Amino acid sequence: MKLICIGRNYAKHIEELENERPEHPVVFLKPDSAILLKQHPFVIPAFSNDVHHEVEVLVKIKKLGKYIDQKFAHTYYDQIGLGIDFTARDLQAQLKSKGLPWEKAKAFDGAAVIGDWMSKDAFDSVDDIAFRLEKNDNIVQEGTTKEMLWKIDALISYVSQYFTLKIGDVIFTGTPAGVGPVAVNDKLKGFIGDKQLFSIHVK
Ligand code: ZN
Repeated sequence: MKLICIGRNYAKHIEELENERPEHPVVFLKPDSAILLKQHPFVIPAFSNDVHHEVEVLVKIKKLGKYIDQKFAHTYYDQIGLGIDFTARDLQAQLKSKGLPWEKAKAFDGAAVIGDWMSKDAFDSVDDIAFRLEKNDNIVQEGTTKEMLWKIDALISYVSQYFTLKIGDVIFTGTPAGVGPVAVNDKLKGFIGDKQLFSIHVK
């Protein structure tokens, strides 16, 4: 399976990193080796001094598809989750400045947290899901999928023009504002509404 990640999908996050607002969704991949194993701590990698949390709503693909029409995209998933796209911001900045790919900064081991899944039926609309990240019991990131520049169904349609979606693939739909560094001993907890979907210890 693969992890398909969307960058720059929330206006306020684009502003905080002083990035340009993209004309089309920004897409990158993480390999399955990037998934942080359940119950394992996140270990800050030796090659970075500035690893950031990016909390993101996740979508799990349940059906094989390519060139998916946006109006049928909702039939390709029935589970919604929450995760973290850990990013070595210092390394990413170096790579970006040289126009090089981001993988070393975003696809390293442990860089993809996938929390528990919820049924899509639990939501009135997937286009208004409220979520947040707490660091040491303080809210650091808060958002709703209403604020996405490209909503879930549009993203599924878009990425399927390039990549065949397979059963079990996970889409990371982008992060809202409030990204920031993690430090040894931090406790990160992710919530959709009042439901806690992951708890991560940083080492
Ligand atoms: Zn991200």
